[in-house]
Amino acid sequence: MAKLIDGKAIAAEIRCEIAADVQALCARGVQPGLAVILVGDDPASAVYVRNKKKACEQTGIRSESYELPADTTEEQLLALIRKLNADPAIHGILVQLPLPSHLDQKTVIHTISPEKDVDAFHPVNVGKIMIGDYDFLPCTPAGVMALLERSGIDCTGKECVVVGRSNIVGKPQAMLLLHANGTVTVCHSHTKNLAEVTRRADILVVAVGRADFVGADMVKPGAVVVDVGMNRRADGKLTGDVDFAAVEPIASYITPVPGGVGPMTITMLLKNTVKSAEKSAETLDRQSSRVI
Ligand code: NAP
Repeated sequence: MAKLIDGKAIAAEIRCEIAADVQALCARGVQPGLAVILVGDDPASAVYVRNKKKACEQTGIRSESYELPADTTEEQLLALIRKLNADPAIHGILVQLPLPSHLDQKTVIHTISPEKDVDAFHPVNVGKIMIGDYDFLPCTPAGVMALLERSGIDCTGKECVVVGRSNIVGKPQAMLLLHANGTVTVCHSHTKNLAEVTRRADILVVAVGRADFVGADMVKPGAVVVDVGMNRRADGKLTGDVDFAAVEPIASYITPVPGGVGPMTITMLLKNTVKSAEKSAETLDRQSSRVI
């Protein structure tokens, strides 16, 4: 039977540390601020935005939310982002994706200042992750790494297999596992003999977006299994990409869905916002020591 990696508990522990960091920053005269922009009325996105706002409040981060109508023009959206880029009270800017189809996601992401890109989607930040010299880590893969670290799982020398190669999960996940000295294989929809590859994994991270995609036949006994998937069953219940009931008896560690990777994503967003505010505080400290 696998040990359960309790994402909810680990996220709560990290949020306490974040709240302490926020207090320390406030004492230095800087309250971290996050701006969240939502365009349109996608109900799932509205829930994510509400959760982010709540998490900010719990940790002492100031949040501003901008809920824009679905017919917002690209120029209007870009003007708001430029205004927030220039606002010293805002340390992180997040544009909730997906955007309505008339808005170009790439242009929007490129307009966010890399210093405030707490989602780490801007090409400057993506490049920094590649060379291992980063300010912000992409939230979901960083959340996975924190789960592994806090469960005492060392990636050094391990066979790590990532299923999925999206820009927001699979690719950066592979890079972070590589930085943690894992031997990394990335699989996708064209991978041949997928089960043969996944069965080599000591650490298996699954980010496909299909309920019960990974069964026991795809997992090596004793493997660590991290399920990033978030899928809705017909009855509305949230479920992962891993068939939990089948895989749990043979894995050494496993993340549940819900309560695994999910709570970590917002936590890492808060962490990035605090990191950005810390950089601001350092700049202010340097400026004031020059004045003295
Ligand atoms: P995505 O952009 O749709 O990417 C899915 C990946 O799975 C693609 O790389 C695709 O390969 C691969 N794939 C699809 N069918 C496959 C198959 N039969 N065999 C092997 N690989 C296959 O999805 P995503 O944004 O990465 O998200 C993945 C899942 O994670 C979703 O359920 C999403 O909701 C969830 N998610 C959760 C969180 C969280 O906070 N927990 C955050 C983000 C995402 P190709 O590239 O070849 O098409």
